[in-house]
Amino acid sequence: MESNCIFCKIVKKEIPTHVLYENAKYLCFLDINPVTRGHALVIPKRHSHDILECTPEDRDGLLEVVMKVAPAILKGVNAVSFNIGINTGKPAGQSVFHTHMHIIPRTEKDQLPNWSSNPAHAKELHRIREKILPFL
Ligand code: 5GP
Ligand code: ZN
Repeated sequence: MESNCIFCKIVKKEIPTHVLYENAKYLCFLDINPVTRGHALVIPKRHSHDILECTPEDRDGLLEVVMKVAPAILKGVNAVSFNIGINTGKPAGQSVFHTHMHIIPRTEKDQLPNWSSNPAHAKELHRIREKILPFL
């Protein structure tokens, strides 16, 4: 537990939240600033900074909770699909440094932009691949 971590405070029930699911190791609650209706967060109760620092057990457990809760959220808010997201690091949008996964219900009418992308040349893909492979 980190004393100044907002999600640790939520785990300790020091901050009220709208809990959807809880067990001994994980907690799922509604995001206070939702992207869409039913936007929820799943966290391991054990503090870690981000998904790269999280234990393999907690990492796998998070996804199990997502798989349990997401279908219920979809039914509850009448959505047809969802995004799961893990923002890792500030430039990627991480603002709370306690590992969490977003479940964001999506509908045909939600008007949310999807990631924009552009085709890359094979030469460029080859060059990038060569840069990455030494680290694997
Ligand atoms: P991140 O930007 O780190 O990927 O996601 C953090 C999320 O936590 C944000 O979507 C933000 O709205 C949510 N959040 C931050 N503080 C609280 C809080 O006190 N309660 C709840 N329920 N959600 C929070
Ligand atoms: Zn924490």
